[in-house]
Amino acid sequence: MQRKEIAYQCGELRKTTIRNKFWQPKIEKLSPAQLRQLQERRLRSTFVYAYKNSRFYRKLFKEEKLDSGSIRTAKDIEKIPFTSKTHFRDNYPLGLLASNSIIRIHASSGTTGDPTIVAYSRNDIESWSDCIARCLTMSGITRQDRFQIILGYGLFTGGLGFHYGAEKIGTTVVPSGTGNTKRQVKLMRDLHVTAFTSIPSYSLYLAETAEGLGIEPSVDLEIKSISCGAEVWSQSIRKRIENKFGCQVFNSYGLSEMFGPGVAFECIKQDGMHVWSDHFIAEVIDPKTGETVDVEEEGELVLTTLTKEAMPVLRYRTGDLTKLLDGSCDCGRTHQRISWITGRCDDMIKVRGVNLFPTQIESAIMGLEGVGSNYQIVLSKKGVLDEITVDLEAEERVWNKGDRAVKDLTEKIRSEVLSVTGLKAAVNLLPEGFLPRTEGKVKRVRDSRNLDV
Ligand code: ADP
Ligand code: ZN
Repeated sequence: MQRKEIAYQCGELRKTTIRNKFWQPKIEKLSPAQLRQLQERRLRSTFVYAYKNSRFYRKLFKEEKLDSGSIRTAKDIEKIPFTSKTHFRDNYPLGLLASNSIIRIHASSGTTGDPTIVAYSRNDIESWSDCIARCLTMSGITRQDRFQIILGYGLFTGGLGFHYGAEKIGTTVVPSGTGNTKRQVKLMRDLHVTAFTSIPSYSLYLAETAEGLGIEPSVDLEIKSISCGAEVWSQSIRKRIENKFGCQVFNSYGLSEMFGPGVAFECIKQDGMHVWSDHFIAEVIDPKTGETVDVEEEGELVLTTLTKEAMPVLRYRTGDLTKLLDGSCDCGRTHQRISWITGRCDDMIKVRGVNLFPTQIESAIMGLEGVGSNYQIVLSKKGVLDEITVDLEAEERVWNKGDRAVKDLTEKIRSEVLSVTGLKAAVNLLPEGFLPRTEGKVKRVRDSRNLDV
């Protein structure tokens, strides 16, 4: 216990050591007016480029009666029709291509259906690597660091995306990929790794595995910076990871259709993620009407690429819910900030007529004392009524304290869920390690309401 307390203190100390550094300061600190001009110029050229080189876009634009001169000002972006995942799927595999000079192909994870295929020119790989280099520098990584990439290498954009960006900085890369969790932890310790990136749920699994090996992550490892992304997660999970490893954890956002990771990332202020606005225009729309919503109002994020050659994508409906943040950031970067992603439009579940997102429940319960690292929401039917059950792991110390402690925690969780959702849920407390761990994106909801059981 005493050791752990010292660990937390170490963590606090380490947290303060991350300095606000820039990879491309001139671009990252462009004045808002310069950035707007750059975006407008690049929007015009991307539109013309797509019109001339992509059969898919030419057809789409013609259907909307747009010609190559239709986009003049930034405001004209609203004339451009949306692109969606369905367009990628209907034009599988490479129907959105605008160039034959491609040097790499990746695919999305396929979380919501068939994976989409994406392609990159040499310049695309350069732009992408710059974006990642900016993100990593922003999270305190320098050439002196050892950076472990605990993300899938291969078709998934995570591994190779971070790899090229990290090499650009000149940091030492440990490309351990996914899987073999014990080995990941040992590598981290033996190679004196100072930073890593992984999916958030897997970071917690790494900490758990380390503890199982007698390694206290915040004491016996030298991690000073972690970046997590690729799946929807909450600030409560971030806090847990920060406490486990005793260092700052940065939110990393991206999607294959844009490049992959490196689209938006947190600076040390951790007050929203900066979208690299020289490469992307971010808009937020009402997912139902498609109308643009005001700054600071939540809706679906829509992204337009400004530099992509192989596969430019205009007004892409990401399906991710967030808002554009107003005002400037104290870190000095002028690039647009978006808030933490609260969910994917597809994640919304309807239980007894109530619409809710798994992250609402996650935020309410994962910060509670004694709660373990994993949970799942199970939906079932009892007669005609929807039933909601929260399966949740509890830390060993809760079980050690006996029945009373287990009962108290169960009650606390039930009342938290009731207060955020208005729903009475059944709560199952489970021993740590009980729920399945995945190397890929975690599945938080098991919906068996339509199964005949
Ligand atoms: P798929 O859409 O099949 O999951 P990708 O592997 O391209 O394919 O993943 C991109 C998606 O992952 C994003 O659209 C978003 O839903 C999710 N995502 C990525 N980073 C984050 C993040 N930091 N927070 C929440 N969700 C994220
Ligand atoms: Zn900032």
